Amino acid sequence: MRPHWCAVRHVGIDKCQRANMFKWIFNKTRSAWFPSKLVAIFAGVDRRIHCQKETLERCMPQNVFQDAVSRIDRFSRDAGIDEEVIDRLRRPHALLSASLPVRMDDGSTKYFQGYRCRYSDVLGPTKGGIRYHPGVTADEVQALALWMTIKCALVGLHYGGAKGGVVVDPKSLSRLEVERLSRAYVRAMADFIGPDTDIPAPDVYTNARIMGWMADEYQTIKRVSAPSMITGKPIQLGGSLGREEATGRGAYLVIREYAKREEWVPHNTRVALQGFGNAGYHVSRLLARDGYKIVAISDSKGGIYDDAGFDVEDIFAKKQATLGLGDIYCDCSVCDVAGRPITNDELLALDVDLLIPAALQRVINPRNVDQVRARSIAEVANGPVEGGVDDQLRRHKITVLPDVLVNAGGVIVSYFEWVQNRQGYSWTLDEVRERLKQLIVTAFNDVWTLHSGEGLTLRDAAYVTALRRIAEAIEAQGSRAYFNPSK
Ligand code: NAD
Repeated sequence: MRPHWCAVRHVGIDKCQRANMFKWIFNKTRSAWFPSKLVAIFAGVDRRIHCQKETLERCMPQNVFQDAVSRIDRFSRDAGIDEEVIDRLRRPHALLSASLPVRMDDGSTKYFQGYRCRYSDVLGPTKGGIRYHPGVTADEVQALALWMTIKCALVGLHYGGAKGGVVVDPKSLSRLEVERLSRAYVRAMADFIGPDTDIPAPDVYTNARIMGWMADEYQTIKRVSAPSMITGKPIQLGGSLGREEATGRGAYLVIREYAKREEWVPHNTRVALQGFGNAGYHVSRLLARDGYKIVAISDSKGGIYDDAGFDVEDIFAKKQATLGLGDIYCDCSVCDVAGRPITNDELLALDVDLLIPAALQRVINPRNVDQVRARSIAEVANGPVEGGVDDQLRRHKITVLPDVLVNAGGVIVSYFEWVQNRQGYSWTLDEVRERLKQLIVTAFNDVWTLHSGEGLTLRDAAYVTALRRIAEAIEAQGSRAYFNPSK
């Protein structure tokens, strides 16, 4: 007999919906009112449900936001940050959720769920990317917006944090459909975003071209020229030189500063990279140029491993041609890439000096934390280490270079783009790179000083530095200590 599960597969719903359905079936089969006979039928699919466990774990516990909040919660106690400051950061300033109607190529209309969260504007207008991914949720967007708040404060930008997202698999859409979706997003958000209030940018599966469409739609709606309403645009439409590589370059600069402290010799330093998109490509390219051995690289379709280290530029060119790392390497045949295929799970468990997760959040979690053998982790992705496993990593003596510092290069050069647009003046690539270096190395030094002086982990040092700056801004407007000094 075919269980319900098969029907579920055949209606073409996405992984998360399927996982939700599994969970529903799973619960029902265990509840008292469900006929015991059906329990037996579903016992047969139990094993398959178990195979879907990984999907379930990623889809079900929608608590990534709580995870993010719990990271800041303890600082009021441990680092003397005023409870009023922490309380203000426990919830977002505003979250807009909208259904985006998009005319598909076959003439039908599809509705996509879109979100924009402006987390905190204490330090200035809010700033943060827009993500296109089937796994986007309101929780995820809020968590990412909170991390942006910390990140902007840490690197000394007068910005608050924001984030946006659309629940969509962009690879399943045509180019025209992606354009219509991007314009629909801006139509829904036009009164929520703007050059003086909230400035979006690219994130996972969005790029400069999409930012260009969004700028055009916004300017058409508002009947103004306002290139500074969004960053990460094509250069021809007011983008900044150096924005494309900024996140990877910033991460490279942070890793280089850390390597100096640890006295790493690049040629003896083995690196594994998960996620070979914009950020992952640039950081690995720059590390490889210095002589670091990039022994493993992966993307959503799988990965490749070579003990001798890869020529990153060559792999990038091949990926561009085949559109997936999984297709570059072919088992037992005459492929022109050395090494062997590797899964994403295997990559995360490699014995390397530096692991760089540069794809999605929570890839290092209670399920696999004990398998991680890297000596250090540089979080190029946002939130790749789940909050609950920080302590385990520390006990295993694995140093984590935190996302809010490592990937801040993106927002720093986005800020430069915004400044240039407002000035009506363009900086040279050297100027952009030099200013990026100044800001991110200063932030690294601030974090390192606190880390070595007060014995905090690098993540805690980064959070405390950022929270103290936000606290100063809140206190400048008057906190309880000012209005009621007797308490
Ligand atoms: P991107 O879309 O250019 O690349 C994402 C990469 O991750 C792709 O190679 C994709 O194949 C891979 N990927 C997706 N799902 C995967 C999976 N399950 N396993 C392994 N690989 C997977 O995105 P990006 O801009 O490089 O962003 C990557 C990360 O860096 C995200 O967490 C993002 O929030 C963060 N980040 C990006 C920027 C930026 O400016 N681009 C700035 C700050 C932080």
